[in-house]
Amino acid sequence: MLNVCVNGYGTIGKRVADAVSKHPKMKLLGVTKYTPDQDAKLAVMAGMKLFVPAESAKSFAAKGIEVSGSVEELVNMADIVVDASSDGNGVKNKQNIYLPKRKKAIFQGGEEASVGFSFNARCNFDLAAGKEYIRVVSCNTTSYCRIIKPIGENYRIKNIDALLIRRGADLNDAKGSALNAVDWKAKSHHADDVRSVIDVPISSIAFKVPHTHCHINSMRITFDGAAPKKDELYGLFKNERVAVLNTASTSSQIVEAARDTGLKRFDTFVPALLMNTFMSNGSDIFIAFAVPQESVVVAENIDAITSQSGILQKNDSMRMTDDILGITKIKSQLENMFS
Ligand code: NAD
Repeated sequence: MLNVCVNGYGTIGKRVADAVSKHPKMKLLGVTKYTPDQDAKLAVMAGMKLFVPAESAKSFAAKGIEVSGSVEELVNMADIVVDASSDGNGVKNKQNIYLPKRKKAIFQGGEEASVGFSFNARCNFDLAAGKEYIRVVSCNTTSYCRIIKPIGENYRIKNIDALLIRRGADLNDAKGSALNAVDWKAKSHHADDVRSVIDVPISSIAFKVPHTHCHINSMRITFDGAAPKKDELYGLFKNERVAVLNTASTSSQIVEAARDTGLKRFDTFVPALLMNTFMSNGSDIFIAFAVPQESVVVAENIDAITSQSGILQKNDSMRMTDDILGITKIKSQLENMFS
């Protein structure tokens, strides 16, 4: 069994911890918390061992939260650390903890690309094998990669203009975009981020809007030669971690479908390709997709662990991860509901 720990039990960390604890080849040693709040109690209630900074142990004890040791002790025991800390803390943890201890770690998309090898299971699983430091790219980049890669394998992509409508905050956030404004960024970092995984000509602009459901992203792809027809996209994504929906017309419908089918935290783990947004003039296509920002990177975190450690080959790993998360069933239920 591979000993794994999760450093940072927030939106991403709690989901990755759940998935690791279900993996037949991994043991979740524990998770870390930096504040003695309700999430710390949730982790203990869920049967996980909690580790905290040594200097904070008293504040957890004062709130009656059982602690199993320090962050440092947990990292010492682990073969691999999944760092799910808030933006910018991962690189500090790398400098202060993982490098001195020569500990392998997996970081998240809020870190600069220089923190580690930029990873997407579908695109570069094999190249990540044995790397000391891996960065699972952001939720948007993960989704762009899952969609661009199969298209690029079958058609010659000349150019991509990407337009992102970003959710202002996660469901649990007290922060977020302004109530009465849409803000935007031309030449947003997303294009560079996609290029850190796939060599493709892409530029991007991002708008941030005040809602929580998902990111609604889109791209106009120009081709050198034939462009895919709408019908051809169904075959292209049949076996991919992408749900292909015909009739969804609001983000709330997709969230409600996730709630009605009983998915924990409404997590669908797959971007939804919105086929009723498809447009084409023959040499290019336009298509939009919804990104479940809180859950889409969970599968990649698990596959990054298997690639980094070498415990599974690509196809076995992706299949096992899909099983653990229920991805095949979720995809087929969504596709059926929005057929
Ligand atoms: P979050 O704020 O929900 O959770 C971060 C957790 O890290 C908190 O529990 C915090 O207490 C803890 N923490 C604070 N200091 C720490 C330290 N020094 N070391 C370890 N943990 C520490 O954040 P999140 O949304 O889970 O994001 C985590 C990472 O995942 C970021 O890089 C983010 O960009 C990326 N990401 C987030 C989303 C999303 O939609 N939330 C999607 C994809 C990727």
